[in-house]
Amino acid sequence: MIQLEELVKKNLPKEKEGKVASYIPALAEVNPKQLGVALYDLDDGEIGEAGQSEVRFAIESISKVITLMLAIKKMGIQEVFKHVGSRQSGFAFDSILNMEIEKAKYPLNPFINAGAIATTSMVVSKTGEDAFEEILSFARDICNDPNLYLDQIIYHSERRTGNLDRSLAYYMESKNMMLGDVITSLDTYFKQCSMMVTARSLANLGAVLANNGVKPWDGKRIISVEGARCIKSLMMTTGLYNQSGTYSRLIGVPTKSGVGGGLMSAAPHKYGIGIFSPVLDKAGNSVAGLELLKDIVEDLELDIFD
Ligand code: GLN
Repeated sequence: MIQLEELVKKNLPKEKEGKVASYIPALAEVNPKQLGVALYDLDDGEIGEAGQSEVRFAIESISKVITLMLAIKKMGIQEVFKHVGSRQSGFAFDSILNMEIEKAKYPLNPFINAGAIATTSMVVSKTGEDAFEEILSFARDICNDPNLYLDQIIYHSERRTGNLDRSLAYYMESKNMMLGDVITSLDTYFKQCSMMVTARSLANLGAVLANNGVKPWDGKRIISVEGARCIKSLMMTTGLYNQSGTYSRLIGVPTKSGVGGGLMSAAPHKYGIGIFSPVLDKAGNSVAGLELLKDIVEDLELDIFD
């Protein structure tokens, strides 16, 4: 039996080794001394929890997985990847430079900000102004979390300070990379990043992906096997920005991070894992969270190549 409480106690002090995100002012207010985990076991449907697993925090970039799932559901994998790439950028998640240097026809992957805004614009192009309402109810469903909500303070903070995201969106608009209206897409993106989740909601989301696209708690399919596989592969190769390669080696389980301090992992056929700890390293990934995840992977002897 894995001792989650022990692992939380062991890894919490690592929060001293980084900083809470401050470029979105509302995130700077979050108490740094927090570490929570939830582990959904596909074998028996039980969820183990420890630390601040019930504390709500902003989902931020992990929402990029949710909009990618929705875009794939609406347009199919082939069509989605005509408008966004699937390779590492080698730059920070909010870089505009890579598209200029590469003279790329589309953003390099759906998990850097440019690619995520383009993906949200695909959902907007299919749904219009109500895209966020659809994203919110989809998020509640796949996270098995009916209380998941939009935090107005974080949303307005994102909107007020989101000029880099605006630059990315208008750059893409000028190159005809945006499928949906640029203003609506940006607003929808700021809102999707400001959805409030818990480690438990993320463990549920991870469990759907680990279970090949079927919600394990009610047996309903959310996305095709191919769709779930494609998302896990992208999480493995680009989910932790330009640290993805390093953590593929150190952790080896498809994982997506967010600057709110969340980590969501899908260990195929075995576990969904949700972690929250708001202190980040330079690339924008949770410091104590990644250490805890490494310990969990070792304790459970998770090997996706088994
Ligand atoms: N809202 C954040 C942004 O647009 C999300 C980034 C992240 O979590 N890495 O910069």
